[in-house]
Amino acid sequence: MNPEQQEEKVHVLIIGSGPAGYTAAIYAARAELKPVMYAGFQPGGQLMITNEVENFPGYPEGVLGPKMMEDLRKQAERFGTQVRYSSVTEVDLSKRPFAVRADDGKSIMADAIIISTGATAKWLGLESEQRLNGSGVSACAVCDGYFYRGQDVAIVGGGDSSAEEALYLSKLCNKVYMLVRKDRLRASVVMQRRVEQAPNIEIMYHHDTVEVLGEQEVTGVRVRNLENNTTRELAITGFFVAIGHKPNTEIFKGQLDMDSVGYLRTAPDSTATNVEGVFAAGDCQDKVFRQAVTAAGTGCMAALEAERFLVGREMGE
Ligand code: NDP
Repeated sequence: MNPEQQEEKVHVLIIGSGPAGYTAAIYAARAELKPVMYAGFQPGGQLMITNEVENFPGYPEGVLGPKMMEDLRKQAERFGTQVRYSSVTEVDLSKRPFAVRADDGKSIMADAIIISTGATAKWLGLESEQRLNGSGVSACAVCDGYFYRGQDVAIVGGGDSSAEEALYLSKLCNKVYMLVRKDRLRASVVMQRRVEQAPNIEIMYHHDTVEVLGEQEVTGVRVRNLENNTTRELAITGFFVAIGHKPNTEIFKGQLDMDSVGYLRTAPDSTATNVEGVFAAGDCQDKVFRQAVTAAGTGCMAALEAERFLVGREMGE
């Protein structure tokens, strides 16, 4: 460690500030573990770029994503969580206490760490996609599909997520175009059969997206047939992108077990990683559900497990 950096000791360090991190913070703070949270490069996480959230229990009228994160932050702070608007840049998990560096210049020794760094949705990279994000363009059908009920929508991608989300949309929407760049789906066979059999899903193989159309909100999409290089426009009001996520776990590479994409591996029925005292919650370890409420659930588990770990250590177990 650089001697010029201040060194600090904390019981529980929480890295990341989405629903998983804040829920872990609420539980850890109420257990008087004085958690310190590093909020990261996008404080509040993916919900900060979401509009209305209608599926989080307890908000009968729905809530704006940023408002919900503000509420969670206040709740965590009320019990004594210290939230820092900086990012952790380096961790050494080879021995306890764990050594952590952050870009606010601090060096921290942490008895336990809860990782809740989330994941980032992949985007196509089109200007129109970015401009209309939140105005008809979405990376989460389960979050936003309801706003397009009875309407025509498109979803990009041929993996399990896209297939699952296309099926979800097909129950709400009039018509779902599934834009797949190859001649086949990558999704599991059972999911392939389901999308093929859904009467209102049209799988458009060999198609990619040229431009999402619309000024203030989505009115259509221009697609290209990659076999004959012709383009056509589809009239839609919702454009969903489901081409994968990237878990934000770079700084843990080589230290924690993760799958080939980078999702942290945790023990069954637990948030424990392969390093004792390090727990993972939320989308950084969940490639299947990816919901605010499931992230919050695992955040709660992580705090309870961290508390148990610290108590056990004090008792010399
Ligand atoms: P995947 O990486 O499996 O699939 C991504 C899809 O998006 C592929 O069809 C890919 O096409 C396509 N794609 C990628 N980039 C682009 C692009 N720029 N333009 C157009 N299409 C693009 O991601 P998923 O999120 O679907 O799944 C991730 C993992 O999670 C998988 O292992 C999956 O099985 C798992 N999962 C499991 C679930 C479950 O068990 N219920 C639910 C959801 C996910 P191409 O094939 O041409 O590369």
